[in-house]
Amino acid sequence: MNYLKLTEYYELLEKTSKRLEKTHILSELLKQTKSEEVEPLINLLKGSVFPPWDERKIGISEKLVIKALATSSGVSSEKIEKNWAKIGDLGEVAEELLSNKKQQTLFSRKNLEISIVYNQIRKIASLVGEGTVSKKIGIICELLAAAHPQEVKFIIRTLLEDLRIGIGEGTLRDAIVWSFFGEKLHLSYDPKTNEVKIPEGNREEFEKILDEVQQAYDLTNDFAEVFIILSKRGFTGLEKISLKVGRPLNVMLAIKAESTTEAAEALGLPCLCEHKLDGFRVQIHNDGKEIKLYSRRLENLTHPFKELLSVLKDSVKAKSYILDAEIVGYDPKTKKYLAFQDISQRIKRKYDIEKLAKKIPVEINVFDILSKDEEDLTVRSQKERRSILEKTIKEKKGKICITEGIVAETTQDIEDFYKKAITFGLEGIMIKNLEKPYTAGRKVGGWMKLKPVLENLDLVITKAEYGTGKRAGVLSSYTISCLNKDKSRFLELGKVATGLKEKEEEGESFTQLTKLLKPFILKTNGREVEVKAKIVIEVAYEEIQESQSYSSGYALRFPRYIRLRSNERSPNEINTLEDVERIYRKQRGR
Ligand code: AMP
Repeated sequence: MNYLKLTEYYELLEKTSKRLEKTHILSELLKQTKSEEVEPLINLLKGSVFPPWDERKIGISEKLVIKALATSSGVSSEKIEKNWAKIGDLGEVAEELLSNKKQQTLFSRKNLEISIVYNQIRKIASLVGEGTVSKKIGIICELLAAAHPQEVKFIIRTLLEDLRIGIGEGTLRDAIVWSFFGEKLHLSYDPKTNEVKIPEGNREEFEKILDEVQQAYDLTNDFAEVFIILSKRGFTGLEKISLKVGRPLNVMLAIKAESTTEAAEALGLPCLCEHKLDGFRVQIHNDGKEIKLYSRRLENLTHPFKELLSVLKDSVKAKSYILDAEIVGYDPKTKKYLAFQDISQRIKRKYDIEKLAKKIPVEINVFDILSKDEEDLTVRSQKERRSILEKTIKEKKGKICITEGIVAETTQDIEDFYKKAITFGLEGIMIKNLEKPYTAGRKVGGWMKLKPVLENLDLVITKAEYGTGKRAGVLSSYTISCLNKDKSRFLELGKVATGLKEKEEEGESFTQLTKLLKPFILKTNGREVEVKAKIVIEVAYEEIQESQSYSSGYALRFPRYIRLRSNERSPNEINTLEDVERIYRKQRGR
């Protein structure tokens, strides 16, 4: 496929914010895609050239792109930066810059295949060592010279991993289903009314297919694989998809319970109650050769926690396995558990790992086992998995434990366990249905979490403001936004200006957050800056109120910064307006 053709679809996708229309456009694109093109295409559509769990990242800075643009166009970096500040998108700046120059050469250019763009960007990402910067600039300039202005815009955006076409995983999944099964199920989309019609008799089958495709994706994290299986073996091929040790899956999620009674009713009795620890979720894969640790967001965390490899080798009695666990930090002197914030610095750490591991030791708290010696255990019940887990782990205090849990026979048992956990200073408890399998990636009701306060929200920072007085020069007030219902836009919910420390040495500080935000500044209006929606934070608050001041229609009362969540949640995974409305209704009913 020509890259130009792909960019025509990008343009269409960018122009609409309607999820159904996006799904339709994407499904038309996928219908024309050959199996061998699907891997580059899916990664490109997701705004990258690597799947999310791949250790490789494009890693190109805006500064480097500006240099490459200056070289390609002959326009100074300063002028490009000015244009960028005005337009707010380097892709559009590049399109405009190079379009005049292109007029002359356009007819002589060869067609750029998507595979060329894909492979060249991969090549840039793999360059290391001396002279890397100029080599990278060289490849970017070559690509730009061969590209049509519209291609230029999207090449630049891809290099910066900021494609701006608003495609979430749900849209991609739906588009795959529409493209493979739309005709068979007589699905039709009307662009005038933005409506999808499916004959009533086909609806159940449609829902079933959607569910199976989602399940296949949650187990593989790979739409390209799902697509290829569907094109080669059809719907029945999906049954063969199973988790693979070594490739991270989407972990199971929990629904919030408001009370022990609600949990007991929803999950049934007896049920499993476990401590909910405030650490860092990891899935641990051992394929018999190598052990790897992945975060919830599928980042490879093996290196920053490499001291755990020997612990795992000694304590897990299986040749191969996948474990689901929480890594919790503790004070080496008092042995007391630390809050997540205190170990967050370990996650991004590249150097001096040993030193930091001594200063902030961590314990692996394992609560589930998903695969053992090549057997997929996700289909087994919670009760069986816990029992297999207990036979597999040799506990060693301070290194590796099985998360403390009991089987509660009555609501009172849950209540007692919960009270003890809170008194002990833990975040809360997890309550689990003993009969349910492990449902990757989903909140389908097998697990519930119970915490004492109103659920904190994970929100993204979309604007910030420079402070005055002792906070001059520091971004110290942050406009926080949630996602709208179809996850295509961010909606403001209020401003956070408390919860951070004044001094860096005291913990997460205004200065630190300022450093994180600065590279993402898009526009400056006096003291206020607009930032790219990248930095996700957890926010606590007293109440949700209706409000005309913010685009969501709601405002958080007394919002307070709790911690940085960018390591665990992408902006696409934050709370939605639906969550806000749900909490709003609940609190009003109290
Ligand atoms: P939350 O982040 O508040 O939505 O709560 C879910 C998180 O709790 C999971 O992603 C885990 O990181 C963490 N967690 C702590 N203890 C457990 C446990 N026993 N079972 C499952 N998840 C747990």
